[in-house]
Amino acid sequence: ELANRMAEKGADLVKALFKMGMMVTVNQTIDQDTAELLVTEFGHNIQRVSDADVEIDTEADVDAPETLKARPPVVTIMGHVDHGKTSLLDALRGTDVATGEAGGITQHIGAYQVKTKGGDLLTFLDTPGHEAFSEMRARGANVTDIVVLVVAADDGLMPQTIEAINHTKAAGVPMIVAINKCDKPEANPQKVRERLLEHEVIVEDMGGETQDVEVSALKRTGLDDLIEKIMLQAELMELKANPDRAAEGTVIEAKLDKGRGPVATILVKRGTLKVGDVFVVGEHSGKVRAMVNDKGQNVKEAGPSMPVEVLGLGGVPLAGDLLSVVENEARAREVATYRQEQATKKRTTAAPTSFENMFSALNTTTIEYPVVVKADVQGSVEAIISALNKASTDEIKVRVLHSGVGAITESDVTLAAASRAPLIGFNVRPNAKARVLAERDKISLRYYDVIYDLLEEVKGEMAGQLAPER
Ligand code: GDP
Repeated sequence: ELANRMAEKGADLVKALFKMGMMVTVNQTIDQDTAELLVTEFGHNIQRVSDADVEIDTEADVDAPETLKARPPVVTIMGHVDHGKTSLLDALRGTDVATGEAGGITQHIGAYQVKTKGGDLLTFLDTPGHEAFSEMRARGANVTDIVVLVVAADDGLMPQTIEAINHTKAAGVPMIVAINKCDKPEANPQKVRERLLEHEVIVEDMGGETQDVEVSALKRTGLDDLIEKIMLQAELMELKANPDRAAEGTVIEAKLDKGRGPVATILVKRGTLKVGDVFVVGEHSGKVRAMVNDKGQNVKEAGPSMPVEVLGLGGVPLAGDLLSVVENEARAREVATYRQEQATKKRTTAAPTSFENMFSALNTTTIEYPVVVKADVQGSVEAIISALNKASTDEIKVRVLHSGVGAITESDVTLAAASRAPLIGFNVRPNAKARVLAERDKISLRYYDVIYDLLEEVKGEMAGQLAPER
């Protein structure tokens, strides 16, 4: 890598190092001092690698207007529980003419595409709700172009409907209201439109600009109308991307698959992702080994707004992480290593034993119960964290120091050791090195496959910590 950067031969560097008394191979890591010495030896200037040097600056990399082509809209469905989000997602999926062509087999990869009778494409994110939407946003991933707000015509506006409206507004994403369950005799769509006024959502009939449509996910009525309105909104937005460039995409979901290793569903933002492409995704590098679409078919390419499941990742990224295709594997590793270092730095500087934390512990009577959580899928991580948070009381509070998807690593063990925190593995085990380290540091490693069991044990321990010492 160093030879590459100096445009010298790797063998020449090895030779020079031999002369300096260092027996190294061409792919061995050398320390910074040696590297600096070597660079001066070869008559090059030393340039310290800075953030800007290594990091991929996607924002500065703007596509020329003439390279942009229309892309399908990306749609998220939101609404109150039981108002029919899942039913609507299923019903919309059923309108896809391409599924018929593919033989009708669908695969849940976190997002799917629908091809309309007119040949238009739409992308739907499979995880409904505003929590997922805002979490992605918090991570810098604004993938949704249009929100479909589902309101049940028999139930009207409910707390989560209002939350969804606020989240959508905060994101500045246009909304289309789908008034669902219109098949029910007690359905009152007009009342829904009126109540929406109170939240400054003014539908067209009332003189506003928000489109609304009456549907029934159950009876599958109004779906074509809804799709037409989404396409109309998309046209107004002139959604475009350059398909002819190195691909960039967002992780929609990621997991460790027992047979296939780490897999992630990527929603392509721009460019075209191809089999064989080398990439960085979050803190991991990789090479696209295979891609599977939402119909379970292997595909060779994926263009803008298309979701694909990607195989060939070096580790499990997080939802919201960005994938960027890079020139070569050395570059991919460089960026990934750099990001890992940055992340470790962040974790260690935010160590739970900082003065600040001690201070807050002294000032309040609340005891903290720290834990590190690793699980096989992001959904489990989130479920565990939320369950643990609920287990907190006024006297003792669960504090998740770190959580993530994938096997328990050395870094997890180190963190747990530093804070004397138990390390929880949900459907995951430690790798060999982590196991050795955990034994040495006498880390309390616990494995679970039922969240309830996990919670019961943690609660028991928390109660134990509160008991007066003998
Ligand atoms: P979610 O919680 O928003 O995802 O809602 P679901 O899709 O799970 O639907 C909740 C319940 O409403 C289920 O029992 C559905 O069968 C029912 N449901 C959904 N859409 C309709 C509809 O258009 N008409 C009627 N009558 N029931 C519906």
